[in-house]
Amino acid sequence: MNKSKPSAKTSSRRNFLKKVTAVSVAAIHPNLIKETKSAAPPLTTNQAQSNASATGAQPNKRFIAIQVGAVSFVDEGVERVLDMLQQKGRVNALMLAVFTYGRGIAGRQLPGQPLPDHGVQKYDADTFHGGSYAPLHAQYYDKTILKNLRAPDLGDFDLLGAVIPKAKGRGMQSYCWLEDVYNPRLIPSFEKLGEVDIYGRRTGQACLNNPDVRAFLNSLVEDYVKSYELDGLMWGSERQGPLNNAIGSRHGGFNGRAQITCFCEHCREKGRERGVAVERARQGFIELDKFVQSAWSGHRPSDGYFVTFWRLLLNYPETLAWEKLWTDSQQEIYGEIYGTVKGINNRIQVGWHIWHNNSFSPFYRAEQDYSKLRQTSDFLKVVMYNNCGGPRLAQYMKSIHSTIFRDAKPEDAMKLHYRIMGYGDEPSFDKLPTAGLSADYVARETRRAIEGVRGESSIYPGIDIDIPTDKSEKKTDPSDVKAAVKAAFNAGAPGVVLSRKYSEMKLANLAAAGEAINEIGS
Ligand SMILES: [Zn+2]
Repeated sequence: MNKSKPSAKTSSRRNFLKKVTAVSVAAIHPNLIKETKSAAPPLTTNQAQSNASATGAQPNKRFIAIQVGAVSFVDEGVERVLDMLQQKGRVNALMLAVFTYGRGIAGRQLPGQPLPDHGVQKYDADTFHGGSYAPLHAQYYDKTILKNLRAPDLGDFDLLGAVIPKAKGRGMQSYCWLEDVYNPRLIPSFEKLGEVDIYGRRTGQACLNNPDVRAFLNSLVEDYVKSYELDGLMWGSERQGPLNNAIGSRHGGFNGRAQITCFCEHCREKGRERGVAVERARQGFIELDKFVQSAWSGHRPSDGYFVTFWRLLLNYPETLAWEKLWTDSQQEIYGEIYGTVKGINNRIQVGWHIWHNNSFSPFYRAEQDYSKLRQTSDFLKVVMYNNCGGPRLAQYMKSIHSTIFRDAKPEDAMKLHYRIMGYGDEPSFDKLPTAGLSADYVARETRRAIEGVRGESSIYPGIDIDIPTDKSEKKTDPSDVKAAVKAAFNAGAPGVVLSRKYSEMKLANLAAAGEAINEIGS
């Protein structure tokens, strides 16, 4: 552990990298930040042997990662969880959910969902807080107002300190797993850095162009990388730009009203630098918001919904420019984090969690350009959750057919949608929520991603194990996990990430991942 301040030499190198990344290194000189890139981390012989002796199995050369939060180690004990992961799932890498305020990757099972067959048999909705599940070191946070975001809900439990040495002893790798989820009610001064919507209202989402937000993220990764012996780091941001939000181009439910952001002073300034007429962009979004709300009230424009939408884009192309500004800002953070981590230790593998919306929305997918993402990543964990993918895709179809495609019903469009997205014969709209998507979808998305990054990043498909869905919707069976893991590897993936958190997984489903790996060979 190294909690000391950086030396003058490392500090100046880091400042150099930061300065360059601040103007998006990837855009101007992709080779600069990738020059230190090494291939996906195969286990060393020692690691593999140690892994093998711990499990009694053959060494595992494939990268088998699992997302796991602090509460599991507190509830079940560090050694016991590691035993379980190695023995049942053949896991050799941990994605430790160290920073989030969200319940998707931290905390126990969600209330209303059945508790799995391990861990404390009690929900934690009343006690869950969020924040950093490892101590934060004050010297790194002098450039941001976001300070002391240590999670208090598990006492002084240090997720990284408690787990990394024990994992290392077993030849398991440890990655930090952070996400772009904050709780504005629990963070002092959050209102200073929230996004501002088209009507001037401050929202509860952090603005990715706010200097305090950027400085915080760089501080946080610097802190973790310098304070612990990490093998890798992954950040995820499950958000998208204002145009996609306005038209409901997403899963997760849509009621015709979206937060259309960001028009804070920092984003306006950035827009002006790009030569975008800021007020025209804002006006265009106000018109778009009116269009969507009018659609929801059932008022069909005489030229139809899609034509009217397209006319809005023609009249206000600034809205598209603002969407691009938002996405570029999010992806600049990839470059900044990449540069910060590599400037400290270039052996640490850096990559991004790519949101499931990439599987549903062609509009969002267009923004997830693998040939660009590979410039700032050693790996991409691309979400390919096929079980919950069914209900989620159905939600997306309902949303987008309530706005720009409202002239057609989702069931009319399903087949066309599958073809546009490059999928085979997946379930019809009415069966989708109960049937889920197939393992063939996982294979196709794996191949597409591998082709997209052209060998410059490792693709680790995210595999869905017991991600909560509604009562009547598709649940995970061992045969689903087995088929998805096999599909990912047979399509050429060098690894998988079992998702989204151990605390919601049934052990038989975890074991199915291990069985798949035994069957295809490690
Ligand atoms: Zn902003």
